[in-house]
Amino acid sequence: MATLINIGIVIGTFLAMEGVAWLTHKYIMHGVFWFLHKDHHQKDHDDFLERNDFFFLIFAIPGIVCLALGNFYDYRIALYIGIGITLYGFCYFLVHDIFIHQRFKIFRNTDNWYFKAIRRAHKMHHKHINKQDGECFGMLWVPFKYFLESKKTKTI
Ligand SMILES: [Zn+2]
Ligand SMILES: [Zn+2]
Ligand SMILES: [Zn+2]
Repeated sequence: MATLINIGIVIGTFLAMEGVAWLTHKYIMHGVFWFLHKDHHQKDHDDFLERNDFFFLIFAIPGIVCLALGNFYDYRIALYIGIGITLYGFCYFLVHDIFIHQRFKIFRNTDNWYFKAIRRAHKMHHKHINKQDGECFGMLWVPFKYFLESKKTKTI
């Protein structure tokens, strides 16, 4: 039973993180921290790293704090929350930086309706190069129409 609860905490945290990521992207990255996110929308240099990558450091902190609390002070709940946050960060990196933006040239081709839908939605997000009037701020969950479109165009 305890194991089920722990798995539940990890999954719950993971799902909640999509909401946190959406809120942060929409109101903070496209808000007061636009100066860090801007070069992800208007690439103005040729370096591998973007100023936008600072967000990885910023987002890593709560995960590390929770893992440390869980590990050193034996706060079990904190440990599983920390695992959920860290797993989400890892998936975000795989999907956003590798699969969608191809910072490493792998995972390029897919016929999977889910992955095609989230890539299409994020490309729509990048159609807007300014701070205002954005859309599709989510990453692993996007507006339903993208999933429907993707299902319809499935190649057999
Ligand atoms: Zn953005
Ligand atoms: Zn972005
Ligand atoms: Zn992007």
